This record gives sequence, structure tokens and C-alpha cells, in this order.
Amino acid sequence: MDVDELVTGIRSGRRAAVSRAITLVESSRGDHRSAARDLLTTLAPQAGGAVRVGISGVPGVGKSTFIEALGEYLTTEKGLSVGVLAVDPSSVRTGGSVLGDKTRMAKLSVNPKAYIRPSPSAGTLGGVARATSQAMTVLEAAGYDVVLIETVGVGQSEITVAGMVDTFLFLTLARTGDQLQGIKKGILEIADVITVNKADGERVREAEVTAKDMAGALRLVHAGTNGWVPPVLTCSALEGTGIDTVWSRIIRHREFLGDRGLREKRAQQQLEFTWALVRDEIEQRLRASDDVREVRTRLREQILSGDITAPVAADEILAVIESTDVLRGTE
Ligand code: GDP
Repeated sequence: MDVDELVTGIRSGRRAAVSRAITLVESSRGDHRSAARDLLTTLAPQAGGAVRVGISGVPGVGKSTFIEALGEYLTTEKGLSVGVLAVDPSSVRTGGSVLGDKTRMAKLSVNPKAYIRPSPSAGTLGGVARATSQAMTVLEAAGYDVVLIETVGVGQSEITVAGMVDTFLFLTLARTGDQLQGIKKGILEIADVITVNKADGERVREAEVTAKDMAGALRLVHAGTNGWVPPVLTCSALEGTGIDTVWSRIIRHREFLGDRGLREKRAQQQLEFTWALVRDEIEQRLRASDDVREVRTRLREQILSGDITAPVAADEILAVIESTDVLRGTE
């Protein structure tokens, strides 16, 4: 693996070099990991230039249609280059990927100003996040102006992606007041911009009412603070309407953060991400350890039958960790 050659290729924006570099940062092999570290250290000074946007929503809400529309808008109307990455929690378990698939973005995948990469399947969400974050560094060093990170609206992956981007966009659908209650509270806390998609045909009015209701609810939540109140918009990814407004709000959110606010946000993200990666790695090593597995099986029975309490069981496991090389890993 010739890291210098790769760096030259990336800096001159060559797609093949970008692809090879991303494959490298996705690898968990020990020698690849150290080559990846060299690569990223070299690229770091050129990274950080992109507008980083997370895009989330339940399956079927229109994420890939939206990314296709936004990507076309940015590359043709704004003259920007766009990288699309994905954090797909289903790829962790099954090795298959439902997000970021090229066939889902037929136009964008042949657009010379766009680069689409499906989600890595790196074993754990932490592993996927690690690879994705490094892929973003590669794309930024290659000069991409915008990096979109798609994720699906389930579980922890939204929080993970929110921790890697400047602005988090939540896609939703028109719904009634009652259904509004059902939107996960957490998502409203991490969303910076919300858009009600499929605002077309007979659903325009319904979408507008939903947007208005959600905006009202958010204003209440943010009342009395002088923070950013997430705007709630409507759009049709299919017809390409409202996409420009969504983009302008993303930019407005950045302006709200300001240069310093953005720097601080990213620095804080790096700090939190560091520890998330350490926790993830430690957990992996615990899972992989035969010594831990042995006590785990025994303790499981004892805990479930009520013979011992959690603190006692935890102490036993910790004693195993202390007396063995469990945390040394096998790299
Ligand atoms: P994802 O699972 O969130 O990526 O959703 P897709 O982008 O695959 O879209 C799911 C379905 O909704 C597809 O049949 C799309 O054609 C359709 N769809 C996406 N956006 C819109 C929209 O703005 N309006 C309408 N009417 N349909 C849409």
C-alpha cells in the first residue's frame, strides 16, 4: 500500500484514489489500520472544508429520492461537488445494505460532480461510524464541497450521525396531530432542519398543516432560549420542489453557528467520538474474549435465577478483566 501515491491521487481529486482510500479506512486489518492512520494524518490539514449534513428519516420517507434531488440541485445550480456516505445499521448485522445503494440514486451515481459510497459493514455501529468519519476526511481532502451522510431513522444511528455533521436534517411525512406525538422525542432534539417530504399532488395541504403544527411545537420547546429553532419546511423530492429552500436553511444554520461556533461544535464532536470509539473497541474485545465468555455464561444463569445481584456479577467480570489480557485485543 503506497500511501504517498494515494495522497497524491486524492489531492488531485481522482475517483479511483478516493475509492481505494475509503476501502483502506474501512478495513479492520491491523496493517491497513496503520496505513489508514498515516493516510489520515497526512490528509488532515486539507480536510474540514465541506458542509457536512446528516439526513435521516424512516424507510420510505424518500431519503434517496431527496439526496438525488439535492445532489442534482447542488451540482448543477450551485456548481458544488457532493459526496454521499451512509451509516446503515442493518449492514452491521446482515452485511447487506439498504442505504446509499447506487441503484437507488441512478442519476447522481453517474454525475461527475458526485461521489456515492454505500455504507460499510464494519461489524458494529461504532466501526461503521469510524469508517464513515474517515471516508469524510478523504472526501474533504479530495475537495468535495458538501458531504451528505444518510442514515435510517432507527435506534442509535441517528445520534451517531448527528455527532459527525454540522447540520442534521430530518425528513418526515405529513401526519395528523396525534401521530405527531409519536415522533421520537430524541429526534426533535437533534434535528437542525426538518422537512415534510412528499408535499405534492393532493398531499400539499396536508404537508403544510403538518409543518405548521410541528413548527409550533418546536417553538414551544425552544421558548425563552435564544438558540436555533429548527425550521420546519415542506418539499417534494420527487418533483424537486422546495429543495432550494431546504438548502438555504442548512446554510442559515451554519451562519447561525458562525465560524467559531462551528469550530467548537466539531471539536466537541471529535472529543465525544474519541470516547465512543474507545468504548466500542473495549466492548468488542470483551465480547471476543474466551475468558469473559466463560464467566458470562455461568453468571447469566445465576443472575436470571436471582442467585446473585448485578453488582456482584459485575465485580466478578471485572476481576476476570483485571487478571487477564482481555483488553489487549488480538490485532
Ligand atoms: P427511502 O427509503 O427513505 O430512501 O425512500 P425512497 O427515496 O426510496 O422513496 C420511497 C418511495 O417514495 C419511492 O417510491 C419514491 O418514489 C417515493 N417518493 C420519494 N419522494 C417522494 C416525493 O417527494 N413525493 C412522492 N409522491 N413520492 C416520493
